Amino acid sequence: MLSGADLCPTSQRIAREFCGNSDAVASLGGMVESGRLPHAFILEGADGLGKSTFAKIIARGAMCLCREPLSGGCAHCRKLRENIHPDLMYVQGSGKTNAISIDSIRSMRKEALIAPNEAEKRVFILEDCDTMQSAAQNAFLKIFEEAPPHVVFIMTCRSAMNLLTTIRSRGRIISLNPVEPEEGARYIADVMKAAELSQARNAMAASGGNIGEALRLLGSESASQAAEKADSIASGIMEAMCAGSELSLAVSCAAIGKDRAMGGMVCAILLERLRCALMTAVGAGETVDSANPHALRLGATLSPDIIIRQIDEINELNDMLRINISMPLFNTKLAIILQRRK
Ligand SMILES: [Zn+2]
Repeated sequence: MLSGADLCPTSQRIAREFCGNSDAVASLGGMVESGRLPHAFILEGADGLGKSTFAKIIARGAMCLCREPLSGGCAHCRKLRENIHPDLMYVQGSGKTNAISIDSIRSMRKEALIAPNEAEKRVFILEDCDTMQSAAQNAFLKIFEEAPPHVVFIMTCRSAMNLLTTIRSRGRIISLNPVEPEEGARYIADVMKAAELSQARNAMAASGGNIGEALRLLGSESASQAAEKADSIASGIMEAMCAGSELSLAVSCAAIGKDRAMGGMVCAILLERLRCALMTAVGAGETVDSANPHALRLGATLSPDIIIRQIDEINELNDMLRINISMPLFNTKLAIILQRRK
């Protein structure tokens, strides 16, 4: 492992945007700084270790015209960051095995022969090459051999061992590895701003140093927290409806706050419970499995007509979430709909 002080300036800039993996960073930085980039890379590593991110940094390395390489100011750096660079192309798999087909390789070949639009290089990122059939790999090998000098290929895979030896021997293999959990946690919290440091530490510990996996854990954690909150707000609203208190109904609806997604989730729960109340109101309550107690109480007190109207109006209100209704107005309208008793 290299320490930051041993890295060339370009590697140091890469290290600021790519966490850990100092060997990979140092080797790419060195190649970019010397202007000697191979025309084929094989980027290997488990899912979540940043292959896509690193592939894009290689693409930037191939195209960047910043005075200090990869400092981000040139048009190529900017367009690559915004995913609008015409000289970066992705080749992806399809079908059940998600393998890159021989047809995709053939159309890539045509593209590769065309001169770049704006940069000096055209970069092709071939994603998840592990399942690529030998025929497709051999077709790719032919392009390799006749590739014009303006082309850079980047293949990503879980393991380079899944590729033909002939391909492996012609590409520069870069391996990505898990990072130190603390370093990864700081990256998630400070650079990506994707979570609080304490949450990021827990997720990094659970993921064994895999940042992508930690982000997935953080995402599902926040999703389950949001679902819990939506459930509790919806229950508060149903309780207020049962109690017939306009004030508590307004307060419960206001708990949605300014969170649009929360508004949608609360609507979905309310709709489900009101449908259950409707079944009870029309005397078909026994057909509802695991009935919500609030729904049963409401079904016993409200007429089916009122419940049907509330369901329709909540559906309409829910649609307004998508056309930018203000959230305070949304919360107020929701309370008004649910207050209806005739
Ligand atoms: Zn640049």
